[in-house]
Amino acid sequence: MARIVMKFGGTSVADMSRIRHAAEFVRREADAGHAVVVVVSAMAGETNRLVALAEDAGPPDPALDARSIEADAVIATGEQVTSGLLAIALQKMGYRARSWQGWQARLKTDRAFGRARILDIEAEALAAAIDGGEIAVVAGFQGLTDDGRITTLGRGGSDTTAVAFAAALKALRCDIYTDVDGVYTTDPRITKMARRTSKLSYEEMLEMASLGAKVLQTRSVELAMAYRVNLRVLSSFVAPDADNPGTIICDEEETMEQRIVSAITVSRDEARISLLNVPDEPGRAARIFSALAAAAVNVDMIIQSPARTSGANISFTIPEGDLERASSAIESLKTEIGYDKLIADREVVKVSVIGVGMRSHTGVASTMFQTLADRKINIHNISTSEIKISVLIHSEYAELAVRALHQAYGLDRDAIGATPS
Ligand code: ADP
Ligand code: ASP
Ligand code: MG
Repeated sequence: MARIVMKFGGTSVADMSRIRHAAEFVRREADAGHAVVVVVSAMAGETNRLVALAEDAGPPDPALDARSIEADAVIATGEQVTSGLLAIALQKMGYRARSWQGWQARLKTDRAFGRARILDIEAEALAAAIDGGEIAVVAGFQGLTDDGRITTLGRGGSDTTAVAFAAALKALRCDIYTDVDGVYTTDPRITKMARRTSKLSYEEMLEMASLGAKVLQTRSVELAMAYRVNLRVLSSFVAPDADNPGTIICDEEETMEQRIVSAITVSRDEARISLLNVPDEPGRAARIFSALAAAAVNVDMIIQSPARTSGANISFTIPEGDLERASSAIESLKTEIGYDKLIADREVVKVSVIGVGMRSHTGVASTMFQTLADRKINIHNISTSEIKISVLIHSEYAELAVRALHQAYGLDRDAIGATPS
């Protein structure tokens, strides 16, 4: 009996009728003779509501670690509700089903409350239950520290719960059911010209997730890649027996499509800090970036250019939520670093083009820069890897840039010669 993991996101369990609809997908897999684990998110909007409640109870305070521990105790409850409701719906349909909270499913994490990482899953009891024909409905997004406290895995973390169980149980498949019918060439909410992609490599999906495509949590793709989990993204908004191929995330060799660029993403969670007139001598950059590392700020896209005077201007991007922490870490060292002025800018977004085809093709960057220049969009910062190019631009141009690039790389639905997916 093959084991399979199915995950339903927030909109797929948004109310009782959607939960019953999700149960119909589970029924199909159980009737096909599979041992089934279902991972659920909280109802759409519920985690936001719980986060706001916890913040209202006490503003975030790094000095109070009880604050984050107790916030996770609150925030994790959304998934407890949906796991119980789906188990009830399945029982009503005549199946043996049982809900499993993080502590019951033995999903162990570190102590990074609010963004915990999975250390281990002691899945023996759960494996025995599903192999014995019971459907396990696991509350996503939550885990347990070694001293028994509830943690959460960061926003979107139910994807990671699902992939982690698929890896631990050596599941045949991990199917992520959501409100789109697969992974698209760009966020379908930005342009109607976006197309579903039938197959993507783990590497491309990883870049997409970390560069803003929220359809999968980045950590879930990392885990899927490390454990070679057969991952698929598909719709829960169709009839359970409808044709629903979704997008398969797999090894690069198995992706037959020959596109140079596979996707365009936009990340809005960006801010830029510029330090003007830093003395141009060894050790200054090291001082700046070690201060940021000590403050646990992740830095991306670094640019150094000569200032008009003898010094240099250094600018870099960080997650928007870290802006205050990063600014105060640097300002406390103003005399030591010796810069004239710190400028913080929240009105920036990072737009990226991604594709494994870039490894063997030239001209991808020039197409990107020319396309943006034709639209009079100024580029602040640039960063590249083997399979992506990212640019930082003013946030007012985010959608214009995505649409223009989508067209320029022949990804639009109606592009002549485009590969149908
Ligand atoms: P769930 O609640 O099921 O986890 P999410 O909201 O986390 O769903 O992810 C699905 C959403 O991701 C879609 O509604 C879509 O707007 C967004 N999205 C962003 N980029 C992409 C993309 N490239 N392909 C598909 N969906 C994307
Ligand atoms: N409910 C959590 C969130 O909204 C986890 C998830 O949906 O994956 O972030
Ligand atoms: Mg999600």
